[in-house]
Amino acid sequence: MKYVTLNTGAKMPMLGYGVFKVEDGQAGVDVIKIALDAGYRSIDTAAIYGNEKAVGQAIKESGIKREDIFLTTKLWNEVMRTGDPEEAFAQSLSDLGVDYVDLYLIHWPVKGRYVDAWLALEKIYKSGRAKAIGVSNFKPHHLEDISKVWSVVPAINQYEMHPHLTQKPLLAHCQKYGIIPQSWSPLGGTRPDSVKEGLLDNPMLIKIAEKYGKSTAQVILRWNIDLGIVCIPKSVTPSRIRANIDIFDFSLTPDEVAAIDGLNQDKRFGADPDNFDF
Ligand code: NDP
Repeated sequence: MKYVTLNTGAKMPMLGYGVFKVEDGQAGVDVIKIALDAGYRSIDTAAIYGNEKAVGQAIKESGIKREDIFLTTKLWNEVMRTGDPEEAFAQSLSDLGVDYVDLYLIHWPVKGRYVDAWLALEKIYKSGRAKAIGVSNFKPHHLEDISKVWSVVPAINQYEMHPHLTQKPLLAHCQKYGIIPQSWSPLGGTRPDSVKEGLLDNPMLIKIAEKYGKSTAQVILRWNIDLGIVCIPKSVTPSRIRANIDIFDFSLTPDEVAAIDGLNQDKRFGADPDNFDF
């Protein structure tokens, strides 16, 4: 495993387990335990995923010490519109069965609400119950808006990033503030058309994968690591869960990293943070 150091001084594993669409209940507990057993020590959930209880249960059942796991959850949009972030955060802690999280994120920049939401997260951070706070789906202009009021700089910006959407200007903007970039949907997301869209069966990626005896998915994940981007692939398939973390015995050459960068098409699989209806 490789780690990044957040602006709080905390260390975060560069590869974590994303649990969007992982079921709540025993099936979810079991699959999250497979990930923990495979060596993942960072879990990315969110209140809206509806599986915080399964995440907490899996951590308990795994026997791994709480302090050895980096736990992330997120503040949902509807709370920003009509609810109370403090209450939502307390509910997340209760559902997870923990007394702190390692990272709490604003899930999406809800128009007219995200600046106040950032101030609410700062209060939570200062209470010590979130060891770090950050944002998700923030574009440069969203970061600029909160920069006018922040007394805490976000530790992380988690946004859609894969070879078809490299978001280099956003990456540079994060780096300017010392904000660590984190990619979601690093493998193109849960859409079954990812392969057909040419991400995982791209001939150039296949060639690189063959050179290292890896899969194209592993090459993409390693490309994230070599760019300094934290990533959180999701899988409920045990063999893929294990394969996705088996990327620390090789690294890409600068030319290979640049060649993968060159696959960018500015193509989103998910919603545009300036135009979402949820
Ligand atoms: P991913 O890019 O991680 O792709 C997941 C899909 O790829 C699943 O269908 C999975 O199938 C498949 N897959 C996983 N590993 C492999 C492999 N080695 N080879 C081939 N296929 C594979 O998509 P997500 O959208 O889930 O993103 C990852 C995480 O990012 C989420 O779980 C969540 O934690 C976070 N996220 C955050 C968002 C935000 O707004 N902040 C938005 C979206 C995601 P299977 O499970 O069947 O194995």
